[in-house]
Amino acid sequence: MSTPEPNPASDPGTSGHTPVMQQYLRIKAEFPGMLLFYRMGDFYELFFEDARRAARLLDITLTARGQSAGAPIPMAGVPCHAAENYLARLVRQGESVAICEQIGDPRTAKGPVERKVVRVVTPGTLTDEALLDARRDNLIAAVCRGPGGIGLAWLELSAGRFCVTRLAREDELANEFERLKPAEVLVEEGAAASAAAAGLQGVKERPPWHFEADTARRTLCAQLGTRDLAGFGCEELVEAVRAAGCLLQYVKDTQRSALPHIERISTEHRDEVLLMDAATRRNLEIDSSLAGREADTLAGVLDRCATTMGSRLLRRWLNRPLRDHGLLARRHQALDALRAQPATATGETLKAIGDLERILARVAMRSARPRDLAQLRLALQLLPEIRAALAAYDSPLLALLVGRLGEHLSERALLERALVGEPPMLIRDGGVIAAGHDPALDELRDIAGNADRHLLGIEQRERERTGLPSLKVGYNRIHGFYIELTRAQAASAPADYIRRQTLKGTERYVTPELQEFEGKVLSARDRALAREKELYEQLLDDLLAVLPSLRAMAEALAEADVLITLARRSLELGYCRPELTDEPVFQLRGARHPVVERVLDGPFIPNDLDLHAERRLLVITGPNMGGKSTFMRQAALIAILAHIGSFVPAQAARIGPLDRVFTRIGAADDLAGGRSTFMVEMTETANILNNATARSLVLMDEVGRGTSTFDGLSLAWAAAHFIGERIGAFTLFATHYFELTALAAELPGCANVHLDATSHGEQLIFMHTVREGPANQSYGLQVASLAGVPGTVITRARGYLAELERQTRGHRQPRPQAELDLRPAPVADPLREALGRMDPDRMSPREALDAIYQLKKL
Ligand code: ADP
Repeated sequence: MSTPEPNPASDPGTSGHTPVMQQYLRIKAEFPGMLLFYRMGDFYELFFEDARRAARLLDITLTARGQSAGAPIPMAGVPCHAAENYLARLVRQGESVAICEQIGDPRTAKGPVERKVVRVVTPGTLTDEALLDARRDNLIAAVCRGPGGIGLAWLELSAGRFCVTRLAREDELANEFERLKPAEVLVEEGAAASAAAAGLQGVKERPPWHFEADTARRTLCAQLGTRDLAGFGCEELVEAVRAAGCLLQYVKDTQRSALPHIERISTEHRDEVLLMDAATRRNLEIDSSLAGREADTLAGVLDRCATTMGSRLLRRWLNRPLRDHGLLARRHQALDALRAQPATATGETLKAIGDLERILARVAMRSARPRDLAQLRLALQLLPEIRAALAAYDSPLLALLVGRLGEHLSERALLERALVGEPPMLIRDGGVIAAGHDPALDELRDIAGNADRHLLGIEQRERERTGLPSLKVGYNRIHGFYIELTRAQAASAPADYIRRQTLKGTERYVTPELQEFEGKVLSARDRALAREKELYEQLLDDLLAVLPSLRAMAEALAEADVLITLARRSLELGYCRPELTDEPVFQLRGARHPVVERVLDGPFIPNDLDLHAERRLLVITGPNMGGKSTFMRQAALIAILAHIGSFVPAQAARIGPLDRVFTRIGAADDLAGGRSTFMVEMTETANILNNATARSLVLMDEVGRGTSTFDGLSLAWAAAHFIGERIGAFTLFATHYFELTALAAELPGCANVHLDATSHGEQLIFMHTVREGPANQSYGLQVASLAGVPGTVITRARGYLAELERQTRGHRQPRPQAELDLRPAPVADPLREALGRMDPDRMSPREALDAIYQLKKL
């Protein structure tokens, strides 16, 4: 990565460097592996390899700075006033940056002015508003592997949310990464390459002792103020604890501040959630779309939250649907109440609340700016109105939220008393603390502020004393207060006037009285500023003392925001309350695809879906573009919506217990990962066959398309058979292999449905309506003919088709037969043989997969 730089500790050659470069190299040595922004006047400069790297990443000019140790030093710089912008670009590219400021006084410094790294910005530990995406979480994660499995810990520093979980397998880890999308990942030494290969950003190796179990436990207990971790449910999860310990230490090292807002660890358990694997999450486009269109995702349709913390919570919910029917029913009930009497005014009020979650994290880390506190004050002022509005609803969940909101009267009074109406951006120049809050500050301000009146008095007196009516008292930054006389008057200057400055036509003087006054005023100003900073810190301390309850308030506000938004959207979009039941059913009446219905120009055709104990597997046929994928996906999206407590796009929905949603959809090549379409298909199919249960919802779209007709058909057939017979999951199986429609006659619980289309003269019209029974097969040829395939080819194809139908009729189980090969190329003998050996009737899916694999090799 970086070429070896001169190291002052080990390299006596450093003495050849200028003193400034020596200081630079000393500081740089403490921050290997990240860029060092080294403050020089109005610029942050980067040197050596850092400079080359930054020049490349930021597209800024690479120059050279003088000579040091006999060679020009590569240098690149960014102006301080625009630094945030450059920082944002660097962290987005996965870089970490140590920011080194001048802390000494350049006027008094002998040699280079003293400098110190004041903060380290890393992609996963951002808390600065300017660097964060307001509507998405920004996480750092750590992974640790051990005999007990894979421990995963993650932290949202800008909210103080710290979670751990234990995973059994690598694919489960990949699923969690797909859900959490961490900006930075800490791994054990030697594990970086595989983590980066899995597409993770910002991967950093940490030495083994950072994952050491006892140290981790001690670090965590010290942070959380507990004797052990039993209260957090992770005591037994050794690997998770080790990961969490490493993560916390890293964050402490980089932040260089206390982290009082990290006050608990939540242990997540997989059996609490409606699980989705990584492919499913991507395929269903829950909060990011394959085409990159944010609006065309489930989150894009629903998210009209008033606050950005609400938007983030909604995304967390959508990415982690829950299985606890009791909790979901409470949310559904709250939505019912909010729909009966929409909380429109409260929604508007919430807009003014702002991002309290992140503001409170900045308070905790003492980086809150005056305007953060003003925003908090406003929120506390609006709180009574929100409480009263929510309390008016007949809903246990909303009542619970009102309780968690609290009242915070004393914090509100404190902020109202302490802060001016509209504080400036920074505390640096003062003017933040209101008059009347602190008598000492008021007095100092009085001295500093009344200088004008006092000076006018001096001016008046001196004019009278000298008899010079145009005598003036003035002030400039270099010479301080002075008395100014014209050149002509200078001759009559009293003896106690001391000449300070001669300008064109005027002379400036000071007097002992003026000098004394100046000292008083200036020191009063300095002292007032210092006092203000002190008071500001005190204000942060006072807020820190009640941080947990303020954070609970922010969380409750975010949740209220999400519930109000879901209720409003459900009205606007015509959603219904799903009924959750313990019976094994998945029944939808008039169901719609929440995203497709929004982007369609024409009307969306609602469809029913009826799955229950005796009808578990639907084979879905119909022409391409008929609406098969849409129909299947809408089922999964409705399941997810019901399991976050939302209403769903349907007229009615009855949903029994579900444990997982699986999808095998789309044929996107994983080219980056080096896997063919077929390999991706197989991996996803194997995953479903190995992990689905009778309580899973499985969507299989066009399985087998990635390979030749025969192995494709065999595989699709074997997979459907296995799911239908052995697993019993609720399954929607869309296929272009018409042969699969015969499964219904053979497999109990299997039925055929098809997407309807009719031909109208030359045109094929898609009805998008789901009907019972298999599809009429002839559409393929019709579509081909519409597409301009020559008539003779169509006629021959019709002939083949008739033959094919004649031959398959009478077969109870469809099976691939070599004689039916329509492919133009002659089939090689070994392939023919292998095909002959394949008997889907007696093959387990594993055997079928093996057979396919053998075929592929031939
Ligand atoms: P298939 O999977 O059968 O090829 P899709 O589900 O991809 O078909 O649907 C193709 C297009 O048809 C969709 O992009 C959408 O525009 C339209 N469509 C699908 N289902 C419906 C529906 N229920 N109502 C209206 N239009 C639909």
